[in-house]
Amino acid sequence: MSSPPSRQSSSRRDLPSVDRVLRELGDTGLPRPVVAAVVRCELESLRQGLQDKGDTIAAWNPRITSALDDLRRSRIQPVINGTGIIVHTNFGRAPLGDAVAKQLLDIATQYNSLEFDLATGERGGRAAYVEHNLAILCGAESATVVNNCAAALVLALRHFAARPPRTNVIISRGELVQIGGGFRIPEILEASGATLREVGTTNKTSVDDYRRAIDDHTAMILRVHQSNFYMGGFVDSPDLASLAIVSREAGVPLFVDLGSGATFDTTSLGCGEREPTPAEAISRGADLVAFSGDKLLGGPQAGILAGGAAYVAALKHEPFFRALRCDKLILAALQTTVDLLLGETPNEIPVRRMMDIPLDALRARAERIVQSLQAGSPPAGLTALIGTGQSQVGGGSLPRTRIPSVTIDLAAGAGGASAELAARLRLGQPPVIGYTSQGRFKLDLRTIFPHQDEPLVTALRAASAGAPSA
Ligand SMILES: *Cc1c(COP(=O)(O)O)cnc(C)c1O
Repeated sequence: MSSPPSRQSSSRRDLPSVDRVLRELGDTGLPRPVVAAVVRCELESLRQGLQDKGDTIAAWNPRITSALDDLRRSRIQPVINGTGIIVHTNFGRAPLGDAVAKQLLDIATQYNSLEFDLATGERGGRAAYVEHNLAILCGAESATVVNNCAAALVLALRHFAARPPRTNVIISRGELVQIGGGFRIPEILEASGATLREVGTTNKTSVDDYRRAIDDHTAMILRVHQSNFYMGGFVDSPDLASLAIVSREAGVPLFVDLGSGATFDTTSLGCGEREPTPAEAISRGADLVAFSGDKLLGGPQAGILAGGAAYVAALKHEPFFRALRCDKLILAALQTTVDLLLGETPNEIPVRRMMDIPLDALRARAERIVQSLQAGSPPAGLTALIGTGQSQVGGGSLPRTRIPSVTIDLAAGAGGASAELAARLRLGQPPVIGYTSQGRFKLDLRTIFPHQDEPLVTALRAASAGAPSA
């Protein structure tokens, strides 16, 4: 750079103009007005720095480059998920498979029959097909779709519990849970205009607790699946069938927030942990169930509502429903996902496929990855070994289930800290995210797609290039 690095000659006048910086930066891969805004902001803070702290003019280039790097990194982009957590909310939950991606492209780039009845040539029901098939998948009379499971719950609360005098929602104290960042059942209830009517205790709630709480203010009984934690020991809660009897006697709906909504028997994963299915909850007497589209179902972000036809129809008539509806891309992706599930080809759904990959297949990939790292010129500052790990389902479901897995265990040469290696991999291209266990930095191959093995090797080589050599 032409700016002299010495402090004495640093003056506000010597700072380059925005135009000059833009010229020198050339193509940054970001839109020009965005780069200009960053440059202006950095030059301004440098100007302050020259006054207050005595920064040097030479500081401008690295500061602007690093501000642009940070901005570029904050874009949504593909990452390699080596955490072993299959449904990871930070990584966009369920990745979609090829069949769904193809359908998305088809619908996204052309006109489509979203609200058009091809048989009559008239306006048709939005999402009629996916609603029909979701009802079959859930063993329900009827189903519909909103933005996410939180929206499904809000819609139900607005419909059933926001009209005085019936605003009380009865819920067990053991189910007043927080799910993920900032989704708290009691807060959602209150924000929706419902009145929380807690019953029982944290660990024990009986049918009689519910029965005693019923009065003229009762709007509905809510059961929330304890997705992301479990309670053991001195615990008890009534089964759904007994709660259904109470709700029937009281003439109020029984609403079940299932959260992840597995449509398969999760005990097949080998840990004996059972996630209730929507069909089970409905057959045991739930009037309505809600669950997410992008957790164990393996589809796009959506909230599925299923249950009695009159209830579903009433929810769809709420003015609020219009504000929560899904767009054509979500409906198209969900439509294909549901058909794959009904067609018994769940292996087309990445989340399901990942749960079932045999250890042998993972081990064979691990061997190839370690071999190709060592082939040619092995990276100096990096050792890679094959290890074992325990994948998790994630997404707040099956908190006790662990699926045995195979990992690539990395060490960053002699004295190289695994935290530094983790950071280099995260900042690389593509970004690679792993986890540290017992002092080892590990990448779980169960959540890494086979087509990512090659980019992974490239990323590992690049990360090791900056490592302290052994
Ligand atoms: C995950 C979860 C939700 C929220 O689902 P979103 O689709 O993210 O809105 C609500 N309730 C339960 C029990 C959950 O596990």
